[in-house]
Amino acid sequence: MIRTYHSAARITHFCDECFHDILPGEGYTGDVVIDGSHFIILKRHDRCPVDPFEEEREIFEEFDRESELREELPMAA
Ligand SMILES: [Zn+2]
Repeated sequence: MIRTYHSAARITHFCDECFHDILPGEGYTGDVVIDGSHFIILKRHDRCPVDPFEEEREIFEEFDRESELREELPMAA
């Protein structure tokens, strides 16, 4: 990452975090990164209006519980 900046949207941007629009007037944070020879700016709301990972998080939590159970199993008899 090269630098991070904070700004208020003057035009509608796309939030890379929740995949919703960042509307004019809303605050957002931009991360400037280099991908190969390209500059990419990843923008995200200061506070995303939705939690895009809510469903995924449930799946991960399920997965966590399963791996915890697995780790509790004795390694060898
Ligand atoms: Zn967002």
